[in-house]
Amino acid sequence: MKLIFVGPPGGGKGTQARLLQARRAIPQIATGDILREAIAQDTALGRDARRSMEAGELVPDAVMIAIVEERLRRPDAYEGFVLDGFPRTLPQAEALEETVNRMQRRIDRVVDFQIREEILIRRLSGRRVCQVGGHIYHLEYQPPREAGLCDIDHSPLYQRDDDRPEAIRRRMEVYQVETLPVLDFYQARSVYAALDAEGEVEEVYDRLLAVVDRR
Ligand code: ADP
Ligand code: AMP
Repeated sequence: MKLIFVGPPGGGKGTQARLLQARRAIPQIATGDILREAIAQDTALGRDARRSMEAGELVPDAVMIAIVEERLRRPDAYEGFVLDGFPRTLPQAEALEETVNRMQRRIDRVVDFQIREEILIRRLSGRRVCQVGGHIYHLEYQPPREAGLCDIDHSPLYQRDDDRPEAIRRRMEVYQVETLPVLDFYQARSVYAALDAEGEVEEVYDRLLAVVDRR
């Protein structure tokens, strides 16, 4: 199954992609996670991307397109993947289409996570992420068993720099301007599916499966 998740910051894409990965063994390709890992390892990519990310701006298209092309070529992505957070601009969507065609593959579903902005802000301001594996928590909605520690690998949880109010505001604007055109691009095609992303995690997961398994 080859899926693309498009949705605003805090829409629950990462949470749902990780569930699909755990329960259906579909690899999650999260461009935000790839960049955060590069920052943690202090690679050239990490050093270049850091400032844009902290400010809530996008990393340049050419950089992101190259990362995703390389990732899609790895053997574990052959059978399927969930692209989480890519494409985020129209040029990225066009480049992805070319890549997928060149590799003679086909996207099965583009899932549009739909959710009201006031809910997003509450989700983003309470988000906490594990330092080692990027596991996602929420202070109120998805608290870890032990405060401040990841259930899975017991590493400390931190708040992302871009989950602070100023960066959140900027990311919302960037989503409206840069990413909504991506949805227009897919909307006219049969792969497009809207998902009501409000409600509890398991409820959203059930709706997601209905969308993904629809023939
Ligand atoms: P995205 O990847 O779209 O930015 P995340 O999956 O990281 O979003 O979710 C953002 C925050 O909202 C996290 O703190 C996560 O725990 C929480 N969250 C995700 N889905 C839900 C949900 N259905 N209900 C409540 N909180 C959620
Ligand atoms: P995310 O983890 O998906 O919320 O992404 C965090 C940040 O990483 C974004 O705000 C951007 O700065 C950067 N980023 C992730 N994916 C992309 C992308 N496809 N294009 C440009 N920037 C990206």
